[in-house]
Amino acid sequence: MFEHYEVFARVGESTDIVRKEMYEFEDRAGRRLALRPEGTASVVRAFVEHRPVTPWKVWYVAPNFRAEAPQAGRYRQHYQVGVEALGSDDPDLDVEVIALLDGFFRSLGLRRFRLLLNSLGGAASRASYAGALRAHLDAHAGELSAAARQTAATNPLRVLDSKRPEDLAVIEAAPRTLDHLDGPDTEHFERVQAGLRRLGIGFELAPRLVRGLDYYTRTTFEFAADSLDAAQNALGGGGRYDGLTEQMGGPPTPGIGFGAGIERTLLACDAEGVFAAPDRAVDVFVVDVVDGSHALALTSELRAAGIRVDRAFDRRSMKAQMRQADRSGALVALIVGEQEVADGVVLLRRMAGAAQEPVARDRVVEVVRKEVGAS
Ligand code: AMP
Repeated sequence: MFEHYEVFARVGESTDIVRKEMYEFEDRAGRRLALRPEGTASVVRAFVEHRPVTPWKVWYVAPNFRAEAPQAGRYRQHYQVGVEALGSDDPDLDVEVIALLDGFFRSLGLRRFRLLLNSLGGAASRASYAGALRAHLDAHAGELSAAARQTAATNPLRVLDSKRPEDLAVIEAAPRTLDHLDGPDTEHFERVQAGLRRLGIGFELAPRLVRGLDYYTRTTFEFAADSLDAAQNALGGGGRYDGLTEQMGGPPTPGIGFGAGIERTLLACDAEGVFAAPDRAVDVFVVDVVDGSHALALTSELRAAGIRVDRAFDRRSMKAQMRQADRSGALVALIVGEQEVADGVVLLRRMAGAAQEPVARDRVVEVVRKEVGAS
């Protein structure tokens, strides 16, 4: 969760994620640390440190931290599942990585999402594009927000991340990265598109998709959920970062990866109703009106058998315990009173119809398991 501050400072000096949203602090030894805002830079740092054999394919699931204004789908701590593949610039690898994320969303049952695809090109294409973009932004400086004007002076590409309404028209009319790709970058991007078509993965070109960090080259992509609000509809995204390893002091090693937001993905699953959230936390509720010791033993036995069970505490009255059983959503209540103890039984009560029957104490686990359908 902690990372050397410099790892991110290097890759995102002029980005919002690093400049405005990163938590950073000094530890007791005076080191400058950051709470990790994203996964890729740390994976590449580890690659440079340990120099594994390439191609190197890794994955992670981890919390990330960003000092944002919390709102639906945007949190200060969120989880990402990500993959990174280092050591090849073959466009087939781009297709493989994109297909993996597409398949992940599909396997959950999601259908209402779109793949947005772009290419930023390599160093030469990016330089040509940056020139054209700078000229466009200069020509329309008067229409931009003050913040965007400032960003334009240092890193014109980052103006395209702006969500401020006053900037949107200028961004919409901005030059397209795809018009500035050189020969090899064009061929690379065409092969990525051909590969996706071959696998039957639909996509839309998104010529202004630059993504929020400076290390991207060539392919960038994002999956947008149509079931979520447009401001927070990115389920996940990624791209190539062919220069990043060198930037971190390692040997030239191309790479590509993605990060997908777990909370966003679950919000989309809810919105599409693709799998039901459990409607109750327990199947069984134990009501012990003797002394609590029977509840202690029964819950322990049932839990050991994999059955979800809860109980009342504080020696509450029968009525209070039954009310709690009702609220718990349990399918059955197991009731133990003086009489049941004397008879060596437990009363099993089906909460839905209120029918109840005595069950021999030593057969409780077996009978309850059949009743609630647990294996
Ligand atoms: P990013 O590195 O910003 O492209 O983030 C990758 C994915 O993580 C996004 O597509 C979102 O699904 C998710 N994500 C990013 N920031 C947040 C956040 N503050 N809260 C929840 N999910 C986030």
